[in-house]
Amino acid sequence: MRAVTVYDTTLRDGAQTEGISFSAEDKLKITLKLDRMGFHYVEGGWPGSNPKDMEYFVRVRELGLQHATVTAFGSTRRKNTRPADDENLAAILKSGVKAATLFGKSWDFHVTRALGTSLEENLSMIRESVAYLRDQGLEVIYDAEHFFDGYKANPAYALATLEAAVAGGAAVLVLCDTNGGALPWELQAVVELVCKRFSVPVGIHAHNDGGMAVANTLMAVQAGATHVQGTINGYGERCGNADLCAVLPNLSLKCGVNTIPEEKLRHLVELSRYVSEIANMHPNPQQPYVGMSAFAHKGGVHVSALMKDPLTYEHINPEAVGNRRRVLVSELSGLSNLLYKLRELNLDLPNEGEVARQVLGQLKELEHQGFQFESAEGSFELLVRRAANGYEKPFILESLRILTELKENRAVHSEATIKLRVGEKTVHTAAEGNGPVNALDNALRKALEQFYPAIKGMRLIDYKVRVINEAAGTGAVVRVLIETSDGHRSWVTLGVSPNIIEASWQALADSFAYGLLKKNAAAGASAVGNPAPD
Ligand SMILES: [Zn+2]
Repeated sequence: MRAVTVYDTTLRDGAQTEGISFSAEDKLKITLKLDRMGFHYVEGGWPGSNPKDMEYFVRVRELGLQHATVTAFGSTRRKNTRPADDENLAAILKSGVKAATLFGKSWDFHVTRALGTSLEENLSMIRESVAYLRDQGLEVIYDAEHFFDGYKANPAYALATLEAAVAGGAAVLVLCDTNGGALPWELQAVVELVCKRFSVPVGIHAHNDGGMAVANTLMAVQAGATHVQGTINGYGERCGNADLCAVLPNLSLKCGVNTIPEEKLRHLVELSRYVSEIANMHPNPQQPYVGMSAFAHKGGVHVSALMKDPLTYEHINPEAVGNRRRVLVSELSGLSNLLYKLRELNLDLPNEGEVARQVLGQLKELEHQGFQFESAEGSFELLVRRAANGYEKPFILESLRILTELKENRAVHSEATIKLRVGEKTVHTAAEGNGPVNALDNALRKALEQFYPAIKGMRLIDYKVRVINEAAGTGAVVRVLIETSDGHRSWVTLGVSPNIIEASWQALADSFAYGLLKKNAAAGASAVGNPAPD
């Protein structure tokens, strides 16, 4: 079976994304994760460009990496100098890496316009810089910048730059579509030609300006490339780089090309979320393979076919990349979606059809009011359980009062007073907060923790408010979505009302009720020696 070397440049090219800034600490965390995932190379940064990257290269040596080789990035020497006098090459050596990635110019137009030097001098710059690092014992990966544009403009010269890199001792020739405008078939022909001409392994580094980065990477591999560069989630300048979260499963699951080990591929979603969390970027729900919606089915016809065989509407088994199938319920969905969800919840209902019909009716009515259960699976499950009978609410609200005091030049202050019934008992508590929802959250916890200690471990991690009928102005209905985590899993609940406090209360009450339901289910399951899946 064929195999490719996987080279990640999230920490260097990915860090060029608008809105992303990694600290040295962030970079170390991502490096460790990529290493554990079985990546072959992690490009750590450009030591010549900033002190933060130098700190990274010092600390990365302590990580004890098992698979990945860390590389430092940099350019070939400046024109008319000796490599030994070049600061950028010196910074690469100082970083202490075993492998360096050097980029050089392939496009004659760039050599004369951007560098302002002769074509001959550029060839010397490439050959001498690669040879210099080689002589110091480094493995040198050569990134041929603008290779495809350069080849179009002057094929003989573009090939001559690769020959210079080979003469210097480059271990890999990476062809870069730096401007991201190449089309798959054009690129394939060029890669094929380069692979035939050179015995050194050939790599691909594609940008996504034409929306082709993943396609171009696959085409290059088809044409003989054995080294693929890209970033997690396709992060990168402008439209980004080739998304390794799509490249790897495409190669491994569809092209019969080994990338990272299959059991690691099953953690791809986790890797994608981990990196987006650190990058502080919202995950894209429609991202191929790893997006939240990548295997979410809404149409009733699709769902009834899926229940017969998932292959009817899924291109791969979602578990192969650590994703999961989700069936969405909404007013558009038919009975099949609801039956699917009921079975997924393992409720074992004798009157399944009847419950499904009842929930569908309620759903239509609630969606009309502004509820939307697609992304609030916690509230959806509670709705079903309430309809199915036998569900006991963990607490019942008797009354709730919130005061907020605003004074000129003073910190705002909110206080919530709450009266609840838990079983036979009535509890009455008050708590403060920096805002009404925070005060409400604090008061509810204070009231419930004595009965349900598990609440201590639950934490509100996201709170979103969306206005539903904007035209109504401040009298509009709002939808509140709350995401809560217990450290292992997270769930989303919702509330809808023209009053933001009421909507928040509904979402918050559901979030605790759902968390307790899952806690009990887990405790019940482990009592019979069958730990609940998290
Ligand atoms: Zn790039």
